[in-house]
Amino acid sequence: MPKENSVIHMGFDDTDSPNAMCTTFLAYKIVNYLKKEMVEFLDYPYLIRFNPNIPWKTRGNGAVALSIKTKNPEKIKKNVKQLVKKYSDTKGGANPGLVFYEKNSIPNNFSEFSNLALWRLINRNHAKRFAKKNNLETLSLGNGQGLVGAIGAIGYKFEDHTFELLSYRKKSKIGKKRKIDKQSVKKMQEKTYPITFNSFDHKKNRVLITPHGPDPVFYGLRGEKIDSLLDASKMIQTNERLDGYMAFKTNQGTGDHLRNEIDVNELKPYTSGTIVGTISKKPIMLRGGHVIFSLSKLGKEILCAVYEPTKITSTALNLIVGDKIRVGGGIRKATKNYQRILNVEFLEIINLEKDKRLENPSCKKCNKKMKSKGQNQGFQCVKCKKKLPKKIVHNIPRKLTQKMYLPAITAHRHLTRPIQRMKRVNKEEKFDTTISWCHQYRN
Ligand SMILES: [Zn+2]
Repeated sequence: MPKENSVIHMGFDDTDSPNAMCTTFLAYKIVNYLKKEMVEFLDYPYLIRFNPNIPWKTRGNGAVALSIKTKNPEKIKKNVKQLVKKYSDTKGGANPGLVFYEKNSIPNNFSEFSNLALWRLINRNHAKRFAKKNNLETLSLGNGQGLVGAIGAIGYKFEDHTFELLSYRKKSKIGKKRKIDKQSVKKMQEKTYPITFNSFDHKKNRVLITPHGPDPVFYGLRGEKIDSLLDASKMIQTNERLDGYMAFKTNQGTGDHLRNEIDVNELKPYTSGTIVGTISKKPIMLRGGHVIFSLSKLGKEILCAVYEPTKITSTALNLIVGDKIRVGGGIRKATKNYQRILNVEFLEIINLEKDKRLENPSCKKCNKKMKSKGQNQGFQCVKCKKKLPKKIVHNIPRKLTQKMYLPAITAHRHLTRPIQRMKRVNKEEKFDTTISWCHQYRN
């Protein structure tokens, strides 16, 4: 009797370190292996970014999930484990986690776990207990922190998504300077934006798709549709012979970590989310160009910091007491000098207070500012000697408008929802098996 096909959902995370490797590259290796085993893929690979404001994240706190159907689950699992061991940088401080779940559908408690990992700090022991309770087969190396993302990636449910097409370098090229034709990237963006995004910084004339570290990624193209990304990648010119590419369905660019409201009574460190409040102290600029201000909500004062690289510091500096705003970001734990701070990732102005200032009155006849006669002595026109008793209220025009202020593209995080995506939601699409979403070049 032929064996039934079994479904395997696998998730893995935290295989990279700041110095080497990359969880998506491991995924590329695994998919190429799975292709040889003739498994049936049930969806695109998922690249899920979790809470970027936790202290021990790897570069982007990104985990990968794959769903397949196979006749040889035991063999597949054994070999995937080998690949995870081989391509994890445990010596460099990675704490890989790998999980397998062999059921057709994913239970709701997996999505609940995943949702929490988007904006909170989740303890690895919590993940270990979850795995045990739900019959997950696991492999964890180092301290096993990677289990959190591995489970989260399997449980993730898309409400919106984007794609990223990552191209990978040949082994001999890893660590060497990436040479890419700048004009071709610029042109590609001009032709394909906003279906592709965050590829080129026009203001700084800079390519944004190439990382700078020693990892195997040559470039990453972001966009709304997988076929558009494949077309766009053909416009990018380089002399380097690449190993191949793989496209991921991802929550990048969805603002996923900032969907919930932060509990201001708790203000738990490493929590991400939003707060609506009123400016309670005049913003000040610190050395280094960072701006801090206080926001009041429910009688609590929350210190907020806007960092210089975001380039929205002048916006923050123009806020005045009484302005109602919504900020999104992560809570930084207290330091020697500061209480807990919200590191601002976006700033939306809901209501602007009138900027009223007292000024000496003007003489209407002579169109001149009057001079003070001394304390409580009133004011007088130097020309016609007309007198007026007190200062007048003057409305200073505000330099801000009721809108969303986002950081400069160069300060965007993976999850930052770019301005052109503010009202866009990509609905669930069917997995298109005719698309070449993963390919290894034969050269
Ligand atoms: Zn006068």
